[in-house]
This record gives sequence, C-alpha cells and structure tokens, in this order.
Amino acid sequence: MEKRVYMDYAATTYTKPEVLEEMLPYFTEHFGNPSSIYSLSRETRKAIDISRDRVAKALNCDRSEVFFTGGGSEADNWAIKGIAFSHISKGNHIITTKIEHHAVLHACEYLEKHGFEVTYLPVNEEGFINLEDLRSAITDKTILVSIMFANNEIGTIQPIKEIGAICKERGVLFHTDAVQALGNVCIDVKDMNIDLLSLAAHKIYGPKGVGALYIRRGVKIDNLVHGGAQERAKRAGTENVAGIVGLGKAVELALTNMEDHNNRLVSFREKLIEGLMKIPYTRLNGPKGEKRLSGNINVCFRFIEGEGILLSLDDLGICASSGSACTSGALDPSHVLLAIGLTHEIAHGSLRLSIGDGTTEEDVNYVLEVLPGIIERLRSMSPLWDDFVKKGEN
Ligand SMILES: *Cc1c(COP(=O)(O)O)cnc(C)c1O
Repeated sequence: MEKRVYMDYAATTYTKPEVLEEMLPYFTEHFGNPSSIYSLSRETRKAIDISRDRVAKALNCDRSEVFFTGGGSEADNWAIKGIAFSHISKGNHIITTKIEHHAVLHACEYLEKHGFEVTYLPVNEEGFINLEDLRSAITDKTILVSIMFANNEIGTIQPIKEIGAICKERGVLFHTDAVQALGNVCIDVKDMNIDLLSLAAHKIYGPKGVGALYIRRGVKIDNLVHGGAQERAKRAGTENVAGIVGLGKAVELALTNMEDHNNRLVSFREKLIEGLMKIPYTRLNGPKGEKRLSGNINVCFRFIEGEGILLSLDDLGICASSGSACTSGALDPSHVLLAIGLTHEIAHGSLRLSIGDGTTEEDVNYVLEVLPGIIERLRSMSPLWDDFVKKGEN
C-alpha cells in the first residue's frame, strides 16, 4: 500500500467510525422529515434533540440556545450578518481582528459595502490581540465584537474570558468562532460571557457540511436562511438529520477524550517543532506552550515557497498545508502571517502541519526524516538563497 501521512487536521478530519455508525440509520430506516406528524418522524426529532443536548452540555448552555447550521462558515455568517441587521437602530460598528477565518472577514467586508463600519484589530507577533486596543475600539455605535477562540493557521488561543468580560462591561455582544477550539480547549459560554459561538463537525472527527451556532437566550438576531419554521423558525431548511446526529456524537467524543488527546498531540507537536527548528533559517509562527493549539505547527523556511514544499511532501505521501486551505490555491501570502508582521517573502515560505487523533510517532519521525532534504533541495534551486549565500561570501 502506498504510504500516506495526513497532517492537515485543521483543514478537515476523517469521520470517526463511532460517529458514522450513529449516523447511518438516519440515511435509511429513520428517514422521516422531522417536521412531519406521523410516528416515523418521531425518531428523527428525537435524534435531533439528543444532539442538541450533547452540544449544549459541551458549551454549558441550554438546549434552546443551540441552532444547527450547514457548517462553520454559515454559523459565522449568521452571527455577523444576523446581529448587524437586527441592531442597525443601535449602531453600525463591528470589531473583529485581522486574523479571523475568511468566513468572518469576508462577511465583515460585505457589511462594509452596506453601510457598516468595521475595526480590524491588529495582533502581536504571536497572534494575540491587545485587550487595551479592544477597550479603546468600542464606541457608542459598536454592536458586535467577533474574535476567534483559536486561530486555524498559527494556533493562537485568545484570552476569551477576558474579552467576554470587557464586552459584557461595555454592553456589546460577543461572538467567537470556536471551530478550532472545540475539543481542544475548555469552553463555557456562561463563565466566558460569550453571546454567540460557531462550531463545525468536520474539524472534530464528524461529517462535513454541518455545524451550529450558540445564541444566548434573549439575543435578538435576524435570520440568514429564510423559509420554513425549522430550528424554532430561526434557520429554515429540512434538517440534515444524519449530519446533526454526527455532530452531536463528535462533540460528545471530543469532550470525553480531551485531556488524553491534548497530551498526546502536545508531545508530537513539541517533537515536530524541535526537529523543524534545527533546519537553518526557520522561524516558528504563533506562540509556544499552553496558549497554542495542541495540534498546530506552523513554520516559515526562508528563501523558498510553501507551494514547492507542499508538492515535494505530496510526492512522499504527506498531506500538509501552507497558510490555510482557502489560500493554498492562490499565490497571496496568508493574511494571518502578514498580520503577525512577516514580510511577503518570508510568509511565502510557510508550512502548516496540523496533527490529530490518527497521527502516530512513526508519522512524526517520517516527516522529520524527509523535510530537511526537501528544504535543502528547494533552497539549492532558489535564486533568493543563491543571492543570500553570495552576499555572505563577500
Ligand atoms: C474550518 C473553519 C471554518 C469554516 O468551517 P466550515 O464548516 O468549513 O464552513 C471557520 N472558522 C475556522 C476557524 C475554521 O477552522
């Protein structure tokens, strides 16, 4: 069998067999439309309720505050556009950061075309926002603060509880994109004063195309998807029952295994970082230690292009990413790496390895064995490296 090492868990994960097993009957015998009144539909309604309870338990909220969506991007769009349009009489100002996922950034850019004003907070060299910057950005017109829990590219975990406290004190709603955080970090929407929170199943060993938005009771929000009265008339469309079942199971599993999962990944992460940093002219992007997602490794190798590294790794059966999946088709360097202060040239040489439950010690050793040779070979063909070496010799 051809060798394959998957180190792109931040892009998506496989679906765990236990998750798939719970989903399967909802494609076949339990196919009833949850909105119908005959008893066939009782099964599907019950399954959705169980999932809602599982998600609510994971976030420490009430089941009535959980709304299923078609994934993380939809949850982000709903939170931002839904709050913007329902609070227009109060103000038109939104605060976010320069390092959000495109689902948040592009939703904000869209709102800017419709009369809203958006402040994009800067971050420091490790990707953290400054709480004083947040405080001074809030005005009488601010209706929403949207700051991601953990960054998908460089793994930075923001001080969410402190951010929530500031928003509460100033009477501003707080949304957080927790797609990468769930299953890796403890989340408690009450303790952290979170008003809205996005999550997605396919980053935590569940199926693609299903997610959820937590909306604190009492928060006024417009619909994003209009139509039927599903999800208590807040999100139209016949429910993705199997997907919702998968999300619930994936959330439950993620929470029961969190400590073991993190301990295991942290040891692999540290070994990978240590090995990669031995390659000359390499820099680690994102913070060290506890404030970094357990499965995230992101480095820049100077003088070469991330694309070249990815193609060479692919030849050896290794799946990785440069920047994020959404940008790896384009030649623009990652907005996150630019926001932490890297030059275009250095940002172009980035590699993100994201590890997960399927990662083994053998995978880690294999990557560490092949990468130094790949970097050396790519540099030997790089005009930038050539210039650098020549300058050094003068
Ligand atoms: C993957 C991801 C999303 C998008 O979720 P989809 O389910 O793929 O739409 C949003 N935010 C972050 C931080 C992500 O990692």
